[in-house]
Amino acid sequence: MLRTLVKTGSSHALHLIGMDSFLRGKISLPVVLGYHRVVQEFSSEKKSSIPSMLISRQMFERHLDWLGGQFHFLSLDELGATLERGGKFDRPVAAITFDDGYEDNYYNAFPVLKQKGIPAAVFVVTELLNAPQPLLHDKLYGLLCCAYSQWPRASRDLTCLLQDFDIGPMPIQKLTAAANNPFAATRELLTRLSQSQIRRITDVLEEKLPPIEALLCKGKPLTQAMLAEMIQAGITIGSHTQTHILLTNESRFTVQQELESSRRDLEGKLGIPIRHFAYPDGRFNRQTVQAVAAAGYRYGYTICRHRDPDYPLLTIPRRVLWENSCVDNRGLFSSAVMSCQMSNLFDWYAGCEQDHRSLARDPVRWAENRSVGALP
Ligand SMILES: [Zn+2]
Ligand SMILES: [Zn+2]
Repeated sequence: MLRTLVKTGSSHALHLIGMDSFLRGKISLPVVLGYHRVVQEFSSEKKSSIPSMLISRQMFERHLDWLGGQFHFLSLDELGATLERGGKFDRPVAAITFDDGYEDNYYNAFPVLKQKGIPAAVFVVTELLNAPQPLLHDKLYGLLCCAYSQWPRASRDLTCLLQDFDIGPMPIQKLTAAANNPFAATRELLTRLSQSQIRRITDVLEEKLPPIEALLCKGKPLTQAMLAEMIQAGITIGSHTQTHILLTNESRFTVQQELESSRRDLEGKLGIPIRHFAYPDGRFNRQTVQAVAAAGYRYGYTICRHRDPDYPLLTIPRRVLWENSCVDNRGLFSSAVMSCQMSNLFDWYAGCEQDHRSLARDPVRWAENRSVGALP
């Protein structure tokens, strides 16, 4: 609450003195925005989904209307081509993107975009096209919500459960210290463990907890037919890996396989070239950027302002927004807050914890010459 008050107050003050517009004029890069799910009702949907991945259709329209007054919307192909030619834009430009490929993009965002004539792009997790199922992060969050509501000392019980796994002492200590709610625990596990380790943990949680189908029926993926219709209407499709692995947590073998197979799969199913790639959770380092280049992608999108100087087109910054990104202390849309968001004025307290220059965080895991199954 205090943070929201400070954000609202400072936004209005900076907006009044024109600092947001001044800084926006200094930003030479286009504004690329990232969304996840667009839902009918934020307040009801947030009870069963990760709130920071949601925006209501109504709030999404407010964002688009404000952006339309300040920026010219471009498709990612137009944006990429201009950046490739040297990156000179004759007016402020913005692009809209969606990560993961949820079906509500089709039902709630696509009609709004069509009606307003705004181009956009969707980064798809290709495994879900073949076998629709909940994304692993949604499943883990659903299970942890269930655990935290049923286990009186959930953080401690979860720590005990993790001690049965061979994942090293560091994640467990961090989890005990940081994970006092389901979202914090989800983030902590996802950012520290490989996907095979996460899958093993969700398997064990599923054995210990009652079924959570009600939670998991939310957030279904887009179908191939929906994507075909969106492509016909001018929506750009990009890859978001095959199974939503966080590239920096995996082996070189797994990373290459996921990057290449997701591109081939999309090209085969949709009949279009796939040039754009979005890093799951924005996780990248030098090695993973090189792997993205080797897999044939031309443009890569992160979720922070950092770039690899040798691969600027593969580290194009994005700003991820959700329902509460641009609201005042009453929870209402605020053009002053949105303006400050677009001018990067909040970056000083919402920094990026990644070390993008580092090589593999776990060199042994990176060097694995097979799909990693670190747990017995
Ligand atoms: Zn994602
Ligand atoms: Zn960063």
